[in-house]
Amino acid sequence: MLEALKAQPQDKILQLIQMFKDDPRTDKIDLGVGVYKDATGLTPVMRAIKAAEKKIWETQDTKTYTALTGEPGYNMAMRKLILGDAVAADRLSSIATPGGTGAVRLGVDLAKMFNPGATVWVSRPTWGNHISIIKFVGLPVAEYRYFNAESGEVDFAAVKADLGQVKPGDVVLLHGCCHNPTGANLTLDQWQEVIAILKDRQAFPMVDLAYQGFGDGLDQDAAPTRMIAQAFPELLIAASCSKNFGVYRDRAGVLVAVSADAAQAEITQGNLSFLNRQTYSFPPDHGIRAVMTVLDDPALEADWKEELEVTRSGMLGLRAQLAEELRRATNTDRFDFVARHRGMFSLLGLTEAQVMRLREEFGIYMVSDSRINIAGLNAATVPVLARAVAEVIR
Ligand code: PMP
Repeated sequence: MLEALKAQPQDKILQLIQMFKDDPRTDKIDLGVGVYKDATGLTPVMRAIKAAEKKIWETQDTKTYTALTGEPGYNMAMRKLILGDAVAADRLSSIATPGGTGAVRLGVDLAKMFNPGATVWVSRPTWGNHISIIKFVGLPVAEYRYFNAESGEVDFAAVKADLGQVKPGDVVLLHGCCHNPTGANLTLDQWQEVIAILKDRQAFPMVDLAYQGFGDGLDQDAAPTRMIAQAFPELLIAASCSKNFGVYRDRAGVLVAVSADAAQAEITQGNLSFLNRQTYSFPPDHGIRAVMTVLDDPALEADWKEELEVTRSGMLGLRAQLAEELRRATNTDRFDFVARHRGMFSLLGLTEAQVMRLREEFGIYMVSDSRINIAGLNAATVPVLARAVAEVIR
């Protein structure tokens, strides 16, 4: 029977990781994989997480199951981190999930349960796994144009035109901040316009918030999500702790639902818990508990925020330096958008052939759509990248 299975296409980014590993050049540069790296190329365990893990190790005396929702304290802490007090607490339901991916997956599952006729709209481009998850769940995918590769900015006229085509009850997946892969984001005024269009179209918003704290700050990055939550009676939020808490492999995420009122929120909660139950029963606990421990302890929380701020400002510094070096190396302002982008990624707008040349001639690895991970750079490699880009676009 297994011969009925077709070979799955290889994941582009995982393939790139392997190619990078196999490359014997010692001065190779990895701008592919989407994990934060410090100036020494390390993806550190954050200090507060390490301290929280110690605290857990010292005090935990059982590993029996917790709640089907995952630890309730984690759910409460994450709701607050994401939404602040934008929505009345009794309208919220949530489940802990294995990473942001688990939240996206169960969010799409839930969408299929409440509207099997929904089309799910995603930005073009978007994180590749969005499209593949939606298709796997069995809902049709539609794309709204998002990015102007020439200017490196959001193509806002196209966003508005395409979202104007959304049908009532369709789900529109929005990147809450730090758009992956482009790095280009809507301004708050543009968010207001998008909200007005989606309300007019009677769309159901679903926010993917995978990089809160990596753009302009924790509250600033949550601002669009909070605006949407205040504007709509119902929405879903799929959030990840992988990046902002650095707990990638421990798999900590959360799926939050906002319902119209408290009675519906209870029914929604039952359905979220049901989805956890059907999929893997109890979500993983370790990373979730570490995150909760940090958020519940004022000293650990303050230390986490401080380290996150250093991470964030380090990436902004690299952006400014890269924009400057590209300006110098190419003698144009073509790449100034790099400094305006936010988050870990920027789409440089290079052709696939140019990306190949960077890999083959310069040992610089980026995704074939020319997405770079800013955190893969350091002060010494920024000029190397700038000179190589200038060479391949000549
Ligand atoms: N959404 C987006 C847009 C992402 O970039 C990622 C991570 N690459 C995720 C969700 C999920 O991340 P994880 O499952 O590792 O938490």
